[in-house]
Amino acid sequence: MYLHCKKCLSSQTGDVLGQPCRTPGCDGIIEEVPAFSTLVDRLPEPMTCGRRMLDFGPWEHAEGLDYWEKFKSNGNRVCSFCGSLHPDDLFELVRTAANAPLEAEYHSVPEIEPSDKSYKIYVHQPGVRNAHEGGIKFYTHHLPRDEEGKLQVPQERNDEYAAAVKASKARFERYLAKTFPGSQRHSSPETQRPN
Ligand SMILES: [Zn+2]
Ligand SMILES: [Zn+2]
Repeated sequence: MYLHCKKCLSSQTGDVLGQPCRTPGCDGIIEEVPAFSTLVDRLPEPMTCGRRMLDFGPWEHAEGLDYWEKFKSNGNRVCSFCGSLHPDDLFELVRTAANAPLEAEYHSVPEIEPSDKSYKIYVHQPGVRNAHEGGIKFYTHHLPRDEEGKLQVPQERNDEYAAAVKASKARFERYLAKTFPGSQRHSSPETQRPN
């Protein structure tokens, strides 16, 4: 049994079920971490995670062994094998991130952040602090492809992705400049907008 404080998500050695959280300033109660399977509904359609087929691993390399798991909380669908968001859910979050105002508080809207790995994209959603609360990443092996394996992503989606990354970066740099005044070296020209 794993324990944590649902409020601040911390877990510490010596935590006792039902006792107050010991994080300074937190008034949460220590609870049992719910099993992931209780947080999602398993969708019936079988699916094949590209990573299962691509990666060398101690698992079966066969089709149709995976499925999408849909969060009861926010409807996010994530891959049962690799935890990636469903591509349609990603595209929707990308569009929201791209269209949200640059003046919005960072992370008060969905934010899209490329990782140092070309195949992995971070997704920050309001109200989602970890993988128990919703989708937090996308792996490009879940992008739609045709039968020859060629990517089937319309230009419009690519443009929205680029716009989302740029908008998230601008919101993040505004946040940095506000939180750490004087650290202007972090800001880029695109964030220096007239008020
Ligand atoms: Zn706490
Ligand atoms: Zn997957």
